[in-house]
Amino acid sequence: MELNNHIISPEEFAILANAAPALIWASDMDGNIHYLNEAWLRFTGSSSGQGIGRNWEECVHPDDLPTSQGQYLSAFKARVECKRQYRLRKNGQYRWIADHSTPRFDKQGNFAGYVGSCLDIHESIESQQLIATNPHTSNIQQTQTQRFFMQAPAGICILDGPDFVFELVNPFYQQLFPGRVLLGKPLAAALPELTSQPIWQILHQVYHTNQPYEGRELMVPLARTNDGPIEERYFNFIYQPRLNQQKMVDGVLVFVIEVTDSFLKGRQLRERETSLTSLIMTSHYALMILRGRDWTIEIANQQIATLWEKKLNDIIGKKLMTVLPELEGQPYPALLNQVMDTAQPYSQEEEVLWIESPEGRKQRFVNFFYDPMIDVSGEVVGVIVACEDITEQVHAKRLLENSYEHEQTLNEELYATNEELSSVNEELAATNEELAQTQEILQDSLERLRITEDRFRSFVAAAPFPIAVYEGREMRIVLANQAVMDVWGKGNDVIGKCYAEILPELGDQGIYPLLDQVFTSGKAFHGRDQQVDLVINNVLQPFYFNYSFTPLFDAEGKVYGVMNTAADVTDLHIAKQKVEQNEQNLHNMILQAPVAICILLGEEHTITVANELMIELWGKPRQDVINKPVFEALPDARGQGLEEAMATVLNTGEPFIANSVPVELIRHGKPETVYQNFVYAPYRDSEGKIQGLIAITIDVTSHVLAKMDLQTSEAELRETKQHLEQKLEAGRQIQRQKDDFIGMASHELKTPLTSLTAIVQLLQRTLKDGAQSFVPDALEKANHQVRRMTYMINSFLNISRLESGKILIEKESFLLDDLLRSIIDETRLIVSSHTIELKPTRPISIYADPDKIGSVISNLISNAVKYSKSGTSIILECELEANWITVHVTDQGMGIHAADREKIFERYWRVESSRTQHIAGFGIGLYLSAEIINRHDGKIWVESEPDRGSRFSFSLPLSS
Ligand code: ADP
Repeated sequence: MELNNHIISPEEFAILANAAPALIWASDMDGNIHYLNEAWLRFTGSSSGQGIGRNWEECVHPDDLPTSQGQYLSAFKARVECKRQYRLRKNGQYRWIADHSTPRFDKQGNFAGYVGSCLDIHESIESQQLIATNPHTSNIQQTQTQRFFMQAPAGICILDGPDFVFELVNPFYQQLFPGRVLLGKPLAAALPELTSQPIWQILHQVYHTNQPYEGRELMVPLARTNDGPIEERYFNFIYQPRLNQQKMVDGVLVFVIEVTDSFLKGRQLRERETSLTSLIMTSHYALMILRGRDWTIEIANQQIATLWEKKLNDIIGKKLMTVLPELEGQPYPALLNQVMDTAQPYSQEEEVLWIESPEGRKQRFVNFFYDPMIDVSGEVVGVIVACEDITEQVHAKRLLENSYEHEQTLNEELYATNEELSSVNEELAATNEELAQTQEILQDSLERLRITEDRFRSFVAAAPFPIAVYEGREMRIVLANQAVMDVWGKGNDVIGKCYAEILPELGDQGIYPLLDQVFTSGKAFHGRDQQVDLVINNVLQPFYFNYSFTPLFDAEGKVYGVMNTAADVTDLHIAKQKVEQNEQNLHNMILQAPVAICILLGEEHTITVANELMIELWGKPRQDVINKPVFEALPDARGQGLEEAMATVLNTGEPFIANSVPVELIRHGKPETVYQNFVYAPYRDSEGKIQGLIAITIDVTSHVLAKMDLQTSEAELRETKQHLEQKLEAGRQIQRQKDDFIGMASHELKTPLTSLTAIVQLLQRTLKDGAQSFVPDALEKANHQVRRMTYMINSFLNISRLESGKILIEKESFLLDDLLRSIIDETRLIVSSHTIELKPTRPISIYADPDKIGSVISNLISNAVKYSKSGTSIILECELEANWITVHVTDQGMGIHAADREKIFERYWRVESSRTQHIAGFGIGLYLSAEIINRHDGKIWVESEPDRGSRFSFSLPLSS
């Protein structure tokens, strides 16, 4: 195989292009599409060949057509590359794609058309539009994260915490389950059918062992929609443990691609193979399938075994060269290799086949057919061998030839059939002509093939992703397209040089051994997101690639070189890093915020993120609360109105703000009331949908307590002030009473003094005139006034003594009835207006102060006189009961109103009425009486009815 002319076959290119995730197309120089890869066909939903030769107008969104087509046409004219975005129809709906078209040129440098690769960027564009119109998504953190997820060409989600709550779900992932609600839900709730699957165990294993897991073509029964049937779906996926700041696993990143279609196609193929097997087994011809480069006998029928003189069971599954080592040196192995390399069938008649049998080496003759076996991707994976044992016929023929008689007969027959032959000859001539024509067609096909190959060579050269081919163990570069040279930062002069020579910086990056291994083992290497440091502009810079080293085999099945394809994913890698950084920043921002913050996701308000301040506020260990629904983690916070507040924020999107709210919490094992200012703001995803809450809590317990203390002392202060004011008022009242009293006292004292002055003046005058008879009467009157004043002055003295505590009770035993009688007798001497009577009583001896008790009795009698009309009677009586003596003084006077009855024992209290205003008094008699009785441990009271009279009583213990 001449490498420079056959670097990559159209088939190999097709494998390559069909494996690419991007949509790849190529147009010829007239602008007609002449190639579309599998990804394109999948995208547009058209079958192979349908799009070829089609016009752009049919698939591009009508609005985008003028712009995108105009742009393309002008680039086309100028033969330059062209980048554009337009909407392309996918399953009846238009999606945004980004197209990068590169002109391609044939060997002679003539313009040969365009090759383009497109990426589906629909979500990215949609999200940008959403961001532009939605104020909630203006957060930079979100848009960067969003952009990354939107552009990622695989389903990505983040399963958070041990419950695997869907923290983030990109549109690609969501498309796997249209209409099913994932975000914010635990995996078991969102996709319950998963929990009974092995994948569930795998996920837990990843979480608990911190080991990533890569699955290929794993069957997972899953429903697409909520009420859809559970389907057998196949996925390639990676579970990557996510680490928190403490390097502990706190979630799982999931990258997934559904491969159900290709898997089913593969299965179909396998099924077809099964039917092929049965076909082979039942065939009358000797048939078998040799798979792979080592020609494993995958299936063979009895006729083959008979031909080889072996048992069928001894050959199936074995390698051809092991079963028939004698084939070595015979033409068959080389022919098989040829079929595998060229994918062209081969047939031959009457070939010798040497077989080792128990009886020795045997010669057999066979007609045989080799057909290449090609898989879905167009690769030759084996050879179908059909074979006819014609040994008998050949022997017979030989025998015939050797026999003279037979020869004679044959000659005769030959002669006889000469005529026939000549006619056959004629036919042959005609056939010859046909053959010549066929040859011409063949020539034509070969020419077309050459053109196709040229096209594909230029196609490779113009391919927008890097392709290079290295030859020999020393990895000499025989082909490198522009894209790969751009990646290396080199020019055209790399061709012919060794890989290690142009990229010495890879020396310690483990890439040379990798290439050597591919060369030695013949096994391809595929690396994803691998860091490769390249010197660009004299600076060693890191890049990231998805790349493959694919071995290239020569006709003998030996590796002669390596094909290197790559996709530069540096941007994606950096974007990913940025996203991670951003996520981390967001996390750190929350964790380091100077107020308590947490993020509660979903309707259950799962605590997804909480900073130390928040954890401190809750007073529970972090591991007991994180990733739990908030009211499960903090059951004591229930029933305090917080549930309702949170639900309202989720439903309305209106933030909830409350200040100094008392919250009962069990903190550090003890119930406590804390006071908090709350802000619950909605936490939205990029589409503005509310996913949960951001709760900010500020503990204001100390402020509130200080305020409450202040309020308490204020209240106390107010009370004291009130008290003081009351006292002040009482003081003022006393003052007023004193003023009244002094006014009254001076008036009362003036009256007897005026009388005395008048009497004394009269006496003087009378004595001068000598009218002797008037004197005794005047002296009697003067004496009366003097007594009156003495009584009044004594009363004042008693009061002041009482108040200064100087009044002394001097107790002695005496007869109360005697005291009553003597007082009544004394009173009768002065008072003639009323009858005063003591009801009969037996002698009563008591132990008390006779003077003070006497003044009480006198006072009660003098009041009875003062406040009842003359002519009425006053009755005194004694009542003895147990150890107590009660004295009653009853009059028939004006009586006392109930309201006044309560007050008359108070100091200076006098009933104010028109009837009492002319009755002299200071309101101290009853006050003094009550004090004296109290100091004897007795009681004093009044019963009275207005206008009917009063009964004053006091009780004393007989002895004490
Ligand atoms: P006063 O010197 O005014 O009599 P007291 O302390 O002895 O002072 O009596 C207080 C008031 O009680 C009297 O002003 C009078 O209004 C009323 N009071 C006292 N005794 C009687 C009574 N026997 N009948 C009606 N009112 C009385």
